[in-house]
Amino acid sequence: MPDLQGRVALVTGGSRGIGKAIAIALAEAGAAVAVNYRERAAEAEAVTEALRKHGGRAAAVRADVSLRTDVEAMVHDIEGRLGPIEILVNNAGIAPVRGLDDITEEDFDRTLTVNLKSAFLCTQAVLPGMRARRWGRIVNISSIGARIGAPAVSLAYSAAKAGMEGLTRGYAVRLAAQGVTVNAVAPGLIDTDMGKPLIEAGTSIRIPVGRPGTGEEVAQAVLLLVRNAFTTGQTIAVNGGALFS
Ligand code: NDP
Repeated sequence: MPDLQGRVALVTGGSRGIGKAIAIALAEAGAAVAVNYRERAAEAEAVTEALRKHGGRAAAVRADVSLRTDVEAMVHDIEGRLGPIEILVNNAGIAPVRGLDDITEEDFDRTLTVNLKSAFLCTQAVLPGMRARRWGRIVNISSIGARIGAPAVSLAYSAAKAGMEGLTRGYAVRLAAQGVTVNAVAPGLIDTDMGKPLIEAGTSIRIPVGRPGTGEEVAQAVLLLVRNAFTTGQTIAVNGGALFS
């Protein structure tokens, strides 16, 4: 029997890219999966349709995860349709490209809110249930951008992802004794809608493996963390050797 059979997972930003690969990997491991999206309903529905065709339980759920009211409604909706959320993957993100001189306060706030505050809001919304059941897995999708101030990504993105890793450790230490692990995965350049412009522009990030990564390779690291009860507060790098941490 698949080892996550009977578990319920939420993947934010699961309609495409890395989130879609994570949703599929979780479903293959037996979990019922809620696929969150912000605007691309058709993509999210196609993902859940594919999961159901393979015998899984799945639901597409719209919410802007940077908004508390949306997050609360989303969690309520998922729990009604699939059951209590036991695995949360905070994957939704944006990476607007801004230079040193053209980044605005609004850009900064939006980038922090969508990439970082969203993880706090989603975690807060699912924590009471995880703590009550004394079992939970939270995986935050960070980025190599947290550690290298890559000029191709905005300052705000690097700050948000570094903040996400701090959030990961802060929750991990508080929840370790309650059966809830909190970890991060920090991908390098991955071939998705977000990564493509950097790949096509010929990124300055040197990748010893010789190619960008795939969503599936990031998903494998997420599954490893979901399956391991003795790993918490860690960040796993999946970057083709671009940075040793
Ligand atoms: P994509 O741009 O391909 O997909 C982004 C996903 O996030 C979509 O599902 C999108 O939904 C969703 N999303 C964006 N904003 C919101 C929001 N406010 N509320 C809910 N959902 C939202 O990105 P990737 O798959 O490449 O990236 C996934 C994660 O991995 C991000 O956190 C990113 O920072 C990180 N990452 C990516 C790297 C890369 O090279 N690609 C490298 C390192 C980290 P919709 O489809 O509805 O728009």
